[in-house]
Amino acid sequence: MGGYGLFSRKKAKRAAVLCYHGVTRRSPNELREVPNSFLHIPVHLFEAQIRFIEKFFNPITLDLLVDAMEGKSLLPDRSVLVTFDDGYKSVHQLAKPILEKYSIKPSVFVTAPGGSALEMMWPDRVFCYFQKLGQKDRDIYQTIEGMKELGNEQRKAALEEILQKTSVSLDSLPEECRIMSEEDVRDLSKSGFDIGSHSSTHPILSKMSADEQSEEIAQSKVRLEKITGKPVEAFAYPNGRVQDFNEDTVRILKEKGYRTAFTTVEGYSSPDSDPYRLRRFFVMGNLPTYEFCHRMTMSWPSKYRVV
Ligand SMILES: [Zn+2]
Repeated sequence: MGGYGLFSRKKAKRAAVLCYHGVTRRSPNELREVPNSFLHIPVHLFEAQIRFIEKFFNPITLDLLVDAMEGKSLLPDRSVLVTFDDGYKSVHQLAKPILEKYSIKPSVFVTAPGGSALEMMWPDRVFCYFQKLGQKDRDIYQTIEGMKELGNEQRKAALEEILQKTSVSLDSLPEECRIMSEEDVRDLSKSGFDIGSHSSTHPILSKMSADEQSEEIAQSKVRLEKITGKPVEAFAYPNGRVQDFNEDTVRILKEKGYRTAFTTVEGYSSPDSDPYRLRRFFVMGNLPTYEFCHRMTMSWPSKYRVV
């Protein structure tokens, strides 16, 4: 059994960065009516995962990961960083009390447009519209994926057309679609959660000109800094695959003062990773607990060596 000890030591200096989205009170059956339901994890499963992380791993903060990349500190063995993308309200309502119970400080990447309200995510809007028209989920997901492949102007025009036709009011939407208010973001920040940017409108950045990208990246930073009163130095690429951003994106992030950026490319992040191409593990809402535990302990290093 000594091999497990060696395995654990060899892989000690890297962090498993987990990418969550929303948390929900609904049962899997009730989740069917929620747009992009695979993004929302039932609250009891979320708590089981967080308890598991707290018990067997070492939760770290983004600051510690950045310091390790800059050679200022060392990562503990079996490091885990919890992150959330998009900025759903459930992070404030449901995830925050659980994370505080287990003393875990996550990073939350918020989509922050320049207007007065933090709005609904565009893929959720598209989903609600076509669901109202009676389209099948599979077809709607195909439409959303197709829209991500469009040039930015075409995507915006298609979205505009949908928004003009839809009578879906924000009040009638499932609570899973709701995005945090400014007060929610401020409260998370005050509670020690790190707030990062996820752009202004969640576009596919590689489909935009450098100037357009610059606006998305700078505007969201300014807005979030105004809300939190703290520097916003981390970014998560919308959609996050390698084809969703480009060299311009990385250059602009550096120019605007971001110290790090996360993809959704699967893998560990370590002190010698490219700080603007950090990898994460995407935790889907329907990932069974046994599978989560298996991945954490067998694929990802466990705190307790089996010797
Ligand atoms: Zn996102």
